[in-house]
Amino acid sequence: MISVVIPVHNEEQSIEPLYHELAAVFAGEGLTWEVVFVDDGSTDGTFEALTRLHAANGNVRAVHFRRNFGKAAALDAGFREASGEAVVTIDGDLQDDPSEIPRLLARLDEGYDLVSGWKTNRRDPLTRRAPSKLFNAVAGKVSGVRLHDMNCGLKAYRAEVLDGMQLYGELHRYIPILAHYRGYRITEIPVNHRPREHGRSNYGVERYVRGFLDLLTVTFMGRYSHRPLHLFGGLGLGAGALGFVILLYLTIVKLTGHAIGQRPLLALGILLVVVGIQLLSLGLLSELITSHHEERMGADDRTARLADRVLR
Ligand code: UDP
Ligand code: MG
Repeated sequence: MISVVIPVHNEEQSIEPLYHELAAVFAGEGLTWEVVFVDDGSTDGTFEALTRLHAANGNVRAVHFRRNFGKAAALDAGFREASGEAVVTIDGDLQDDPSEIPRLLARLDEGYDLVSGWKTNRRDPLTRRAPSKLFNAVAGKVSGVRLHDMNCGLKAYRAEVLDGMQLYGELHRYIPILAHYRGYRITEIPVNHRPREHGRSNYGVERYVRGFLDLLTVTFMGRYSHRPLHLFGGLGLGAGALGFVILLYLTIVKLTGHAIGQRPLLALGILLVVVGIQLLSLGLLSELITSHHEERMGADDRTARLADRVLR
């Protein structure tokens, strides 16, 4: 079964037509499917539209948020509600084209774990397209995951990719990076994109600032969450060693009979040693937190985090 997860914020006019487009695509493919709409605190008639759709169709589920928590939180709730072996996400504004879904699913069948859409002719204003290009370039550079369109709303996943993935803030932009660090195979395919017909875009450029901060979170967590001492300890040892060498040099200078009390280098040496010790203890502290967390995880979960196949 395929689950379609759709975050919606003030999209009342798009819900019905989107459902029918999806239904036509899945009927054409002969696939069983369900759809999970997550109403992210809409202030228009979105949830009424969802209630009507739910009453009329057995495969519709809807989650209603008390207030607007953001697209990441909406996807997170949708993923927990979804029960299919494969999960497809699509924007609720009719900009993504449901007829691309079979092509995404076909790539999953080829052995990929995550297939991302790439809006080759994006139908949004230049003020959105230009920052997005920059964003993809930077995110690709920092993370090593080279996708043209990281944040495309249209994606398909093998369900296991989403187990244990926690999305909040602007993290939905980085799902491919999160999946990559956990060892999943990722690819992208060009998809059709359509202009917005109803409602209006929820995003402005200000989100990119938060987005860049979250890129730090993602790359740090992806690389070091299980071995934080390697980062902090490495920096700490570096600073400490440099400070030690400086102080050693000043000691020799002092022993040869020169005054060192006025040397700026003295302050630098002491600073580096203190900062080095601070970083090292910060690393040990994070290591302690990580290991407590790992202890609480069951044995199977720990294996499942690393392995996709086990022969027993
Ligand atoms: N969305 C949401 N919560 C928000 C903002 C957006 O659930 O706080 C949904 C929105 O309804 C749409 C999708 O996320 O289905 C993409 O949003 P939008 O079309 O506004 O973004 P754009 O396509 O302009 O990047
Ligand atoms: Mg849109």
